[in-house]
Amino acid sequence: MIERLKTLYELQLIDDQLDELEELRGDLPNAVEALENKIKNLKDEISEKEKERKESLKKREDNEEEVEKLKASQQKFKAQLYQVRNNKEYDALTKEIDHTEEQVNKLEEENTSLEDLGQKLSVEVEEITPQLEELNNELKVKQADLKEIVKTNEKEESKLKKQRETVAAKIKKPDYSAYMRIRKAKKGKAVSTIRRSACSGCHNIVPSQRQLEIRRNNRLFFCEYCGRILVSQEVSESFED
Ligand SMILES: [Zn+2]
Repeated sequence: MIERLKTLYELQLIDDQLDELEELRGDLPNAVEALENKIKNLKDEISEKEKERKESLKKREDNEEEVEKLKASQQKFKAQLYQVRNNKEYDALTKEIDHTEEQVNKLEEENTSLEDLGQKLSVEVEEITPQLEELNNELKVKQADLKEIVKTNEKEESKLKKQRETVAAKIKKPDYSAYMRIRKAKKGKAVSTIRRSACSGCHNIVPSQRQLEIRRNNRLFFCEYCGRILVSQEVSESFED
């Protein structure tokens, strides 16, 4: 039974070291992720604006073609004015000419606002681009920092992870689940020991009778205050050297 308790305590010791390594990375992984998201959003924004600008350019070209066609037929109508035989024909032609004129004006107006829109979008893209560059530079620096830290601790981390696997394999499933559940709830610390008659996790005094029971190392005890797995000093001291 004492082996069962020792193994749990050993797992805690390994996890403590892994937690320390993770702490060294600090906020860097989060910062990198946040920057990556920001950059993606800006890139999306730029391509959205570029797309809109290209569409407005295409529409302008189409409109210009249409204007050319309208003007050509207007010329034709105007030439025909000289060959009219009666008022009715004359009225019909002038109506056509006026109508073409209206259409030309409408398209030209539309093109003026499309040109404005295109300029507005270009300016907006120009404003975003330096922000994007700045964020990219910031990201490069943070990524390099993170890589450096990861690289420095790579060997130690993989050694600890292997140790952890070996130790975790020795632990029964229910014990492991309890350990992981408490570890999650208690910011990493699932196993505590008794120091100066108190739980090393929450510093509450463990009643003497309970301490006696725990010293027998014959079952799993949980601290009645913080819920951590409580092991005897005999267990914890077996790892001190
Ligand atoms: Zn406690």
